[in-house]
Amino acid sequence: MAKLKLQIIVLFQNLGEEQSYFARSPAPPLSGILLAGLTPDIVEVEVLHEMVRPIDYETDADCIALSFMDFCAPHAYEVAARFRGLGKMLIAGGKYPSTFPELVAPHFDSVVVGEAEPVWTGVVEDLVAGRLRRRYDSPLAPCLRDIPPPRYDLVEPAYSVPVVTEATRGCPFACTYCQLNIKRAPYRKRPIEDVIRDLTATGGLSLPRRKMAMIYDNNFGGDMAYAKDLLREIAQLDLWGVGYQFSFNCLRDDEFVNLLSDAHCAMAFIGMESLNPPSLLAVQKRQNRVEEYQDQFLKLKERGILIFTGFMLALDEDTPDYYRSVPEKLKEVDPSALLISISIPIPGTPFHREIEAEGRIFDHDLSHYEGDHLVFTPRNVSPAEVFGAFESINRDFYSWTAILGRWGRFLRTYLAAGLRCRRAFEMGRRLVRSGLLSFIYFKLSVFQRHHAQHKVFNSNPCAPGDVRSASPPGARATAA
Ligand code: SF4
Repeated sequence: MAKLKLQIIVLFQNLGEEQSYFARSPAPPLSGILLAGLTPDIVEVEVLHEMVRPIDYETDADCIALSFMDFCAPHAYEVAARFRGLGKMLIAGGKYPSTFPELVAPHFDSVVVGEAEPVWTGVVEDLVAGRLRRRYDSPLAPCLRDIPPPRYDLVEPAYSVPVVTEATRGCPFACTYCQLNIKRAPYRKRPIEDVIRDLTATGGLSLPRRKMAMIYDNNFGGDMAYAKDLLREIAQLDLWGVGYQFSFNCLRDDEFVNLLSDAHCAMAFIGMESLNPPSLLAVQKRQNRVEEYQDQFLKLKERGILIFTGFMLALDEDTPDYYRSVPEKLKEVDPSALLISISIPIPGTPFHREIEAEGRIFDHDLSHYEGDHLVFTPRNVSPAEVFGAFESINRDFYSWTAILGRWGRFLRTYLAAGLRCRRAFEMGRRLVRSGLLSFIYFKLSVFQRHHAQHKVFNSNPCAPGDVRSASPPGARATAA
């Protein structure tokens, strides 16, 4: 008898399919291929990332599993309704269904609440046996041992770096806007041998596609002893480049930074978030010290590590004077790439609770909670000042002149540090590696520039004059 077919869709289009925006991200999200790896062989499984291709409503899949975050929830309900009309079984999972299962449940046949590993095999077995339950609850912080490798073979060709995995979950910090602080769970680590197996379970991928990887932790450095042990093991692998994500405080540990370099780190994602100390304090991001950014980033650049940073606007202590100073300050700290967003009061977070209690949220349409819209009244800046800063920083930072200038400075710093070693071999190695780093740098910059052009500068039909030009009370109806 033919197996049931399960299609896992990782949603991305918060503004609906008629306003689709396809991102040029080099690497896929982890959730879909991780779930596919967990799926027992009693069903046929496929994965669709809506980040790079539209949903196929003509699929012959019997069951659709939708994974989504809060800003995709309204779209998820539309997608679920269309598939339901086509007679498909529907399962919801991911960050938003785990936080608000009772809101999601009416739109789906079943909801998976929490991390899928402990329950997913049971869900699939029940699906095949025709006894799917309305809800499956996973324990709050399950053990991360023996998670099978993600299904890299199911990643779309549009992604050039299909090898993505994670070493840890959680974070020891308490930033008030962070999704992790909706339901705090202990910081957990996977066995080192499981992570190494994921990074090497790449048979069948072509040479360049198996030589690069991303480790998608919330905070890779949450336990430095573990992180260093893992980095020593990764250093033994024959990889060209690995991306890691960790909090700023890790950079104060020189041994960690040296080990990152040994472990093929080509890019570090670090949440810088603000160049204004009071704004950082307002969201309890105490681990960041603005006065250290420049020196700590320099340490990475000297080791050939590109710095990709998050940067938030509309934080409560932001002021017009601060916004005017940002371009100059950014030139001083000189990150390689910037992910600029307008702060998002994610439902369930302490930040959301605080500004909701103060009556400052005027737009409850979750599809706008992606970082390109302003949905609440900031304390010290007007919406026009927020959007003015958002557009001018993006325009300035991602002009070709600025992109080429940063590239030149990065290579000069990296090669000059090599010259100081006074070893011909090291200099030769750095010259060869410069080619790879330049490739990654331009890929990243073009990805972010594309986002700035399509999502920030209103060159698609989604933005001009609509809710981005914040109009307090009476905005869109709540979707949640
Ligand atoms: S450091 Fe990052 S992952 Fe940790 S709580 Fe803050 S925002 Fe979340």
